Amino acid sequence: MQSFVHPSENYQILKSLDSLVQNITENQKVFCQKVAEIKDNHYTLVKSYYQESQRLIKMLKETAFLCSLMFSIEDEKSICVSAINILRKLLQEPVTIRILCASSSRTKLETVAEEKSAAHDIKNVCSKSPLNCIAIKTCRSIIYSPLESTVPCPEMLDSPDQYTYACVPLVAEGVAFGCINILFEHETKMDRLKENIDLINILAGYASLAIYNNRLIKTVKREALTDKLTGLPNRRFGMEALQGEINRSKRYGHVFSVAMLDIDNFKLVNDNYGHTEGDKVLTLMADLARKCLRNVDLVARFGGEEFLIILPETDIKRACAVVERFCRVFNEASLTDVLCAKNLTLSGGIAQFPHDGEDALSLLKTADERLYLAKSSGRNRIVADKLN
Ligand code: GH3
Ligand code: MG
Ligand code: MG
Repeated sequence: MQSFVHPSENYQILKSLDSLVQNITENQKVFCQKVAEIKDNHYTLVKSYYQESQRLIKMLKETAFLCSLMFSIEDEKSICVSAINILRKLLQEPVTIRILCASSSRTKLETVAEEKSAAHDIKNVCSKSPLNCIAIKTCRSIIYSPLESTVPCPEMLDSPDQYTYACVPLVAEGVAFGCINILFEHETKMDRLKENIDLINILAGYASLAIYNNRLIKTVKREALTDKLTGLPNRRFGMEALQGEINRSKRYGHVFSVAMLDIDNFKLVNDNYGHTEGDKVLTLMADLARKCLRNVDLVARFGGEEFLIILPETDIKRACAVVERFCRVFNEASLTDVLCAKNLTLSGGIAQFPHDGEDALSLLKTADERLYLAKSSGRNRIVADKLN
């Protein structure tokens, strides 16, 4: 049976259909708008990611370049100043940056370089034991903000609570020897610190290497020029100093003297009392030389029990008096309880520049010949030839 639809019902159906179509059209419009918005947002996001990554790449390149420059700097303070400059550029905020290194005894942290923001007065922080510094203890960076529930470093407890800071350790061979301390005025800077912490860590790695390298080179250079037993300059240093003195004296028309001193019958000390006692005699000789001679004089251990003394601006007569006085001091010291071996004496030969030689070798040859003369004529004496 066919159903009958009243015309008014037909009208209603048509109206609903029409509103449905209208709704769909509206929704479609909204949908298209949303798609366009999403497209826009996506584009903006991609663009900002691209720009940010470009900025980071540029910053990384620049930082790596500046870091590599640190390896050509010869002193530790300048390396730290250079690291601070890179950080300041990176963080672009009013900020206090300090580089602290543990003292040689590792009992305190010492500021090597710092750049203070005018608003900060942080004299009393981070000056206690490095053993309490969390970054140094754990070899890991820490970031602290009063707004977050992180624990402040005990080293920073004195600082007022409005500071946000980062401490990044300087590490070499697995041991932290210092840290970079970055201090912001407001806690809102936490984001900037977090954003840049990877770059800051890279920079700290470079700075650690540059400082460590620098220390290593200095130690190697120092050790290459120092006698291990006595701590005196060694023969190589003595020869370089002698050449330097010749050059200076030539330029200014000055005279100077050199003395070659040798401990008499030193072999007997070793034979009778052992090598340790012999070493003590050599150390005593070095200590007395450091005490008795002028700061401008240079004493080098030239060979086993042979010492070179360079006396700038000193003629042979005056040099003779100085060296003879030193020999008396040495002899008197050997008579005390310090040594088993007693009544030790020295022999020496002195030569004057330029009269006895115009270059290092001829000057030393003359001094050596006179030393030999002193030995062959009975020891315990100084020979300065006719000028004596
Ligand atoms: P002279 O009066 O003629 O100089 O006699 P001498 O015994 O002092 O000289 P000699 O050259 O016969 O002996 C030097 C000794 O110095 C021999 C060597 O074993 C000793 N000697 C060299 N270097 C050291 C050192 O670092 N420590 C010790 N304990 N002895 C050393
Ligand atoms: Mg000797
Ligand atoms: Mg000798």
